[in-house]
Amino acid sequence: MRDPVTFAGGGLDRAAERRADADWVARQLAAEDSRFLALWRLRPLVKLGEPLTLAWARRDLLSACGESTPILLGVSGGAAQFAVDISALEKPEAELGVRGVAEFHEVRGFAARLSGEDAVSVAIARSLSACHETHRFCGACGAKTQSERAGWVRRCSSCDREHFPRTDPVVIAAVVRGDRCLLGRQPGWPERMYSALAGFVEPGESLEEAVRREIHEEAGIEVGAVRYHATQPWPFPHSLMIGCLAEGLSETIALNDRELAAARWFSRDELRAALAGNGSISVPGPLAIAHHLIRAFVDS
Ligand SMILES: [Zn+2]
Repeated sequence: MRDPVTFAGGGLDRAAERRADADWVARQLAAEDSRFLALWRLRPLVKLGEPLTLAWARRDLLSACGESTPILLGVSGGAAQFAVDISALEKPEAELGVRGVAEFHEVRGFAARLSGEDAVSVAIARSLSACHETHRFCGACGAKTQSERAGWVRRCSSCDREHFPRTDPVVIAAVVRGDRCLLGRQPGWPERMYSALAGFVEPGESLEEAVRREIHEEAGIEVGAVRYHATQPWPFPHSLMIGCLAEGLSETIALNDRELAAARWFSRDELRAALAGNGSISVPGPLAIAHHLIRAFVDS
């Protein structure tokens, strides 16, 4: 069954137990049927045309990757998949010889149109590439680090410390009070766009506490029970969105930390119309977990 949330599910075998097997990884890198996805400055290569698909290549792509190490994404249909960072190229489409056939695209613009499995591959590729980019030096001693385990850890060349790819937890909550739901608007968003309130989980904090703190900081609303709904890997650059439905205990909105330009309570009818694209406000599309939280409220 396809998980309704983009970037989750999809059925890709992550082959986690094989990453440390250097011989196996080398065999996959040399295999005729392995597939390679070029990534340029966090943008994957996409075939032009409909339906939109990732431009998977054969192993000859490896000649373009310079000093970067291929990242094992997983195994699909018996074939290994790797991401290959070619960010060092200046004119990547021309240098790969794919101009007019394929282009590098920002993931947000097309991920909702990918197959479930390709969306997962893209999420892994984008998040891990972002981590490699920002962990080239050891945070403990400052020496250079090197990619190991097919891209799933970096090891310091001096103090031997391992640096694992990070995932940043973010809580996002639709606050429900009776027959209404609280949504907010950030400055800079498109006019009339409202969404569920969100924020990073802080150290030493449970998810429930993070939801209560964020909602109070941003909208001044007291929150009681917090119910987990679903999670979504969010590769911008490497977050995990933890979607919750939260019980609102108070009603008067106060924009305490000024992170929001506005916050309001909305009825089911207002949000049903917004989800259908013909409301007085707009809400995020199905790519974002906020869409699914709002739908869960409307359908409850
Ligand atoms: Zn070190």
